[in-house]
Amino acid sequence: MTTAPATPAVPLADLDTDALRAAHARFSASYDELKAAGLRLDLTRGKPSADQLDLSNDLLHLPDGEYRDAAGTDLRNYGGAVGLPELRAIFAEALVVPPAQLLALGNASLTVMHDTIVQALLHGVPGGEGPWAGRPISFLAPVPGYDRHFSICERYGIRLIPVPLNDDGPDVEAVAALLAADDSIKGMWCVPVYSNPSGAVYSEEVVRALVSLPAADDFRLFWDNAYAVHHLTDERPQPIDVLGLAAEAGNPDRPLVFASTSKVTFPGAGVAFVGGSQANVDWLVRNMSVQSIGPDKLNQLRHVQLLRDGQGLAAHMEKHRAILAPKFVAVSEAFETRLAPHGGGHWTAPKGGYFVSLDVLDGCARRAVQLAAEAGIAVTPAGATFPHGDDPRDANIRIAPTFPPLDELRTALDGLCTAILLAEAETLLAGRDHSEG
Ligand code: PLP
Repeated sequence: MTTAPATPAVPLADLDTDALRAAHARFSASYDELKAAGLRLDLTRGKPSADQLDLSNDLLHLPDGEYRDAAGTDLRNYGGAVGLPELRAIFAEALVVPPAQLLALGNASLTVMHDTIVQALLHGVPGGEGPWAGRPISFLAPVPGYDRHFSICERYGIRLIPVPLNDDGPDVEAVAALLAADDSIKGMWCVPVYSNPSGAVYSEEVVRALVSLPAADDFRLFWDNAYAVHHLTDERPQPIDVLGLAAEAGNPDRPLVFASTSKVTFPGAGVAFVGGSQANVDWLVRNMSVQSIGPDKLNQLRHVQLLRDGQGLAAHMEKHRAILAPKFVAVSEAFETRLAPHGGGHWTAPKGGYFVSLDVLDGCARRAVQLAAEAGIAVTPAGATFPHGDDPRDANIRIAPTFPPLDELRTALDGLCTAILLAEAETLLAGRDHSEG
């Protein structure tokens, strides 16, 4: 999946010092022009663009007349703690979770993940030996990964242990070795489809390993399937039945599946889902029953009326794809044209999801992001894709191309490449001066 530079030229790192100085002077001049342009562009967060949000504007006048579910329940009232059956059925299919074991809840899956961890800290999870709190707890964190996952653990003092994320999922040997050596590991963050930010898709082999490896009885896979239906090409990964595979492996309670409609309809005004084994679902419902008398079922009804069924959901996602795919092409084109001739980085070419993961030369990411910011181009802070913001190679930058209009995106990417090349030439020269001095 990682794209190798296609244009043969001399990489910056291989230039002799005089040629490197000349390249630095050229990049510096381009950067001065960039700064003088006074841009104000933002590539920070993976948000849908305004024209993507327009695709769901019917939600603004739904639900239409109807306010009962198929069983005749009045959805305007309290109750229905597990969510609207019709909506659960649509997403159960997409997420490969039995509808009875999938709950439709509030407006954000991150809240459900957060609350699940807090409940585990306070009460423990089914099959465990009591609350996680009061003893050392660790989570495995495939890297590069999603900063908001890490923030939950950082907030509650849960140690994060990075493991390498390959194109087909986390490095299983590394995971196995860590689990075998450390029984404080109670959780692992997983974005199994179009991972944030690399776009990696876990293979069935990797999933089988993750549900089978020996681990603590209360070890949980936080299976955040946020991008299950967010395809950018016709090449679709075969959906994986993680709950079925876990049950087959004798660990039915290991996966907790999360998802939401945040990037299907309206982020912040969508519907979140959580699924798992019956024991986990009973535990979740018990916890929730003291927290809420029921979710916003009218919003869930709106979503049923907009999406209708699995086919309606797929058709809706095709409209997102039509808007998004050209933006991902723009990312590859910019990096291919500007970075590749200088050996300036490696990047992923995701087949879905919201992000591209870019690795620049080691030791250059922070400086590149800083230079971009000073030229008015905001990029996700370097390091954000690693626990505690600490990328040991200082190389990874998360690119979020979805929000800006295409012309602004192209301008921002071009400016970012200018900043990256200057940071790289600067860093390489500093290394030479150091070794020569
Ligand atoms: N999970 C992943 C992997 C994400 O990338 C995001 C948003 O970028 C979320 C969860 C947030 O989801 P929600 O809006 O449902 O809280």
